[in-house]
Amino acid sequence: TISPIPVLDDAAVRVAVRARPLLEKEIQENCQECVTYSSDRSEVTVGKERRFTFDHVFGPHVGQEEVYMACVKPLVESCIAGYNATVLAYGQTGSGKTHTMGSANSNLLQEHELGILPRVIHHLYKSIEEHKKAEFLVKCSFVEIHNEEIKDLLHPETPSKSIFIREDANGDIVLAGVREEVVTSFEDMMKLLELGSTNRTTGSTLMNQHSSRSHAIFTIIVEQRSIEENTDIDVITAKFHLVDLAGSERAKRTGAVGLRFKESITINSGLLALGNVISALGDERKRGQHVPYRQSKLTRLLQDSLGGNSRTCMIACISLADINQEETLNTLKYANRAR
Ligand code: ADP
Ligand code: MG
Repeated sequence: TISPIPVLDDAAVRVAVRARPLLEKEIQENCQECVTYSSDRSEVTVGKERRFTFDHVFGPHVGQEEVYMACVKPLVESCIAGYNATVLAYGQTGSGKTHTMGSANSNLLQEHELGILPRVIHHLYKSIEEHKKAEFLVKCSFVEIHNEEIKDLLHPETPSKSIFIREDANGDIVLAGVREEVVTSFEDMMKLLELGSTNRTTGSTLMNQHSSRSHAIFTIIVEQRSIEENTDIDVITAKFHLVDLAGSERAKRTGAVGLRFKESITINSGLLALGNVISALGDERKRGQHVPYRQSKLTRLLQDSLGGNSRTCMIACISLADINQEETLNTLKYANRAR
């Protein structure tokens, strides 16, 4: 029997840090590691003295499976129980967000290399098969926010101007104008992930630069209807957002000018709003403080799945290389505010 879902007692935002290994190019350039970490104590130290503690700290040799099991699997389970959930990958361009999130085409990857998204989709369909007491309807959408404009990556012909974020009478956030696709298998959802990632990169000549300035949000909507009699509720709906955030690097580093400079500023304001929301959520129960969701499209879109009765995990991706020390420190400070 499906009954109303109880209030979560551990709904706070969890924060993990994942360090990627030095890249071939960095080794050739003789980069040194400037970060030390202790997974046991969940600590990261930059240089000699800047030490931070998080819920999880993953060193460069930790694989995709371990990150998934520790950070994301419990969220998939709570999503099947009816709770909204959000996973966010934060960090400078090249720090491992897309690798961690698995939000690009994973066709050519071996199983152990698969990121979070394919694992979530696999786990979801497996759980649905095993679930005997309810009927499931699964839908998904894949959008990108670039310069405060929303693009439907599964239907790129839809003009951004016809897409609106609305709040319905239940306080649920709805993306009007974005078509949700009904999906009935792991394979079909993987095809949509692939389609959306391809659409994300075409239409932009400098794909890497484009993806570093936009947020990509893959959303899975799970509706379940009890097939037993005498249930209190007909349908329970839960949303799972998987977000590959824009690069967190500062505008000055990329030497951006003109239009690109404007883009960098807009992106930083989305990440700024997210930081403000997440840090207000950390204080919420103590002070009942206002949570500033309306400061950006990103936070508005995630409003009903960040805080409240939902689970959130932010994975801050960092590079160990000394040339990235300044950005790594910025990332850890940002992530630290979220705790
Ligand atoms: P971002 O999306 O943050 O710009 P990417 O995910 O594209 O960064 O990662 C940059 C490069 O580093 C890619 O070549 C990727 O394969 C590699 N990489 C990232 N994280 C890891 C990791 N944990 N282990 C091995 N290689 C990684
Ligand atoms: Mg990326």
